[in-house]
Amino acid sequence: MLISTKKQIFHFKATSIRKHQKTVNFKHFFSYKLKILCRFEHHIYNNPLLSNMSIIANNPDRTSWLHVGKNSDFPIQNIPFGVFLTRDDIITIGTRIGDTAIDLGALHQLGYFDGIALTDDIFLQDTLNDFIADGRKTWRAVRNRIAEIFDSNNPILKDNKKHKEIVCFRLDEIEMQVPVQIGDYTDFYSSLEHATNVGTMFRGKDNALMPNWLHIPVGYHGRSSSIVPSGIPIHRPQGQTLPDGSDEPVFGPSKLVDFELEMAFITTVANDLGEPIPVNEAEEYIFGLVLFNDWSARDIQKWEYVPLGPFLSKNFASSISPWIVTLDALEPFRVDGPKPIKPLLPYLKSKGKKSYDISLEVAIRPKNAKETIVCKSNFKYLYWNMSQQLAHHTINGCPINSGDLMGSGTISGPTEDSYGSMLELTWRGEKPIKMKDGTERKFINDYDTVIMRGHCEKDGTRIGFGEVSTQLLPIYNPKKRNNP
Ligand code: MN
Repeated sequence: MLISTKKQIFHFKATSIRKHQKTVNFKHFFSYKLKILCRFEHHIYNNPLLSNMSIIANNPDRTSWLHVGKNSDFPIQNIPFGVFLTRDDIITIGTRIGDTAIDLGALHQLGYFDGIALTDDIFLQDTLNDFIADGRKTWRAVRNRIAEIFDSNNPILKDNKKHKEIVCFRLDEIEMQVPVQIGDYTDFYSSLEHATNVGTMFRGKDNALMPNWLHIPVGYHGRSSSIVPSGIPIHRPQGQTLPDGSDEPVFGPSKLVDFELEMAFITTVANDLGEPIPVNEAEEYIFGLVLFNDWSARDIQKWEYVPLGPFLSKNFASSISPWIVTLDALEPFRVDGPKPIKPLLPYLKSKGKKSYDISLEVAIRPKNAKETIVCKSNFKYLYWNMSQQLAHHTINGCPINSGDLMGSGTISGPTEDSYGSMLELTWRGEKPIKMKDGTERKFINDYDTVIMRGHCEKDGTRIGFGEVSTQLLPIYNPKKRNNP
């Protein structure tokens, strides 16, 4: 109890200091200095000679004294990072083993991270941004230590009932939050199959791919304000659409609300204004990945997207899975991506295995009915890898910060059951999908829940992302706002 109170005070202090900083005049100067310092430290940490600490956390033979179910996405080899509210209404940074959420702020206060260079309040925060800014060497040291603390052969915390009560939570005692303060959100369009399918529908088979597509990882800038964690329902958007055969647009609810099966990576502070990130160093600046449902309103999109690209059809909502799985944890699942079809410009030539074998699936659960799996795909199908995306994003000198989020674009595979959107699965609604409850879907109905899952599996080790699950509600009702 004492520790809990202490922590509350500590957390209150940290937040009020941060809030206070926002009001003082030298804030910008201060944060600029801090940024430079972070970058300087980061360059040191990412010197290959200094950052070759091995990832002992990935040892496939290790078991935990915490219970882990047979098909769990979260064995002790995963150790993802997230932010949650505890039963005492305290916000903290945590990890998860099996179905146990672990409060890293409490672990740190109890001294379990002694010997690792961490500030006192690094985990007592409502976002992971500062921890991510500490760099790869720190992420690796912390994951390695967590693996040791929860190892079956380590009795120190296992046999300390008091500490365990403070540190460990059941999943129904916590509420997951968006894990980072997302500064900027960029969405790519990196699946050859998806770009070809959509291009074929809108421009015919011969003009499916635009002339730039095989040369550039095409992308656009999105909004971070509407990115929500799994479990938060969203409303069907309204907007302008152009009815078939009409010259005049109409206003109303979107009739073609769709999901996009994507993954997104989260970056650390990477470069200064003007400084490109070399393609073969790019992974040093990627903290980890989440599942990403990039909700889309196809009818609004079709009317608005010329000539500047997607706008309101995309930025009404995107949903993410709450646990960030680190690139370190995904290391054993590296694979080659597709071979380039056209020669690449030198700044996009990546060496080695830069893709990851991550099985993905999408299910739709109608209200009061069982779910139907509508798509099975894989992250490895993506034509452009994350290193190429980051190298391209920064080749003009655009700075990347801690907590930026980069969507992959819809991940479609080669077969008809691997298409990552309803637009492709039903071919613009021409081939409706039969659901287990006997109903049909062309796009997403009100009260449907869309669930995306992803995991890697190799030699008996399974590392997963859990799920991102989002219910689509009818259009926003302003009367409810006035009369709650
Ligand atoms: Mn998208």
